[in-house]
Amino acid sequence: MDDKERVAVITGGGRGIGAAAGLRFIKAGFHVYFADLNFIRAQQFVESLKSFQSHAHPLSLDVTSDDSVMEAIDIVGKKHGHINVLINNAGITNQQPTVETSVSDWQMMIDTHLTGAFRCSKAAFPFLKGATDASIINVSSIAGAMGMPIRASYCAAKAGLEGLTRSLATEWSKDGIRVNAVAPGWVLTDLIQKDLDSGLVSEELLSSRISLKRLGKPDEIGEVMFFLASNASSYMTGQVLRVDGGLSIDLNPGNVNAVRTNS
Ligand code: NDP
Repeated sequence: MDDKERVAVITGGGRGIGAAAGLRFIKAGFHVYFADLNFIRAQQFVESLKSFQSHAHPLSLDVTSDDSVMEAIDIVGKKHGHINVLINNAGITNQQPTVETSVSDWQMMIDTHLTGAFRCSKAAFPFLKGATDASIINVSSIAGAMGMPIRASYCAAKAGLEGLTRSLATEWSKDGIRVNAVAPGWVLTDLIQKDLDSGLVSEELLSSRISLKRLGKPDEIGEVMFFLASNASSYMTGQVLRVDGGLSIDLNPGNVNAVRTNS
């Protein structure tokens, strides 16, 4: 065991935002555990990293299962003696009118996003406590602060995750653990590609409502996660950083030409 080795666990790390974030941490010298429900995908992603492979580790983990979380976090914690960074990123979506949403579908969403983050944070706590620059980063969404039709369970789960972020930040500050969240807007991953392919959302329409006029890229979120885990944010805890290209701050999206000028 090497106290100086920096170790990060990223749930849902097999693809998308989690995979991009993992690569950012590896490039900074971290050992990264890509912890995913889909172990094969995590393994394939790790194999694709070629020269970075020595620091990349696939891990089988289901955030909805107490046993799976305990077992996976224990493997990492016992191997390295500590965990510096936990990123609660695993996520799913569903689109259903609320009146057609079953309680079990509702519970699955809450269990994955909110209870999953609680489970993983609790399991990782003994290994984070006392680790250098220990940090938890929860992956919320601008849906944690804004509403969306046919996604009530997702919005509720993400709003809850932001509450968990603030509470853990206050409770675990004495243990040297900072807890923050990143709240992305629309980011082009398989999760969103599914909605684009089915016509549920249109890239053109979404982009027109975003100040920066484009969807985000997974590595742009990974970069902010790295900032939140680094010393550059050492005085930040309990915060939610919105990374959405300006989507959540524009009251009149797409109407930039209506701005009056003096000329
Ligand atoms: P992806 O679907 O590309 O990746 C999510 C990963 O999480 C998948 O590999 C998935 O595996 C895994 N996963 C799902 N359920 C579990 C589970 N129970 N245990 C462990 N892993 C699981 O999604 P994104 O990268 O787009 O999203 C990552 C996070 O970012 C999510 O929390 C999402 O809500 C959030 N987010 C994404 C936005 C976007 O626009 N993309 C916007 C705002 C927030 P499998 O495929 O097998 O289910």
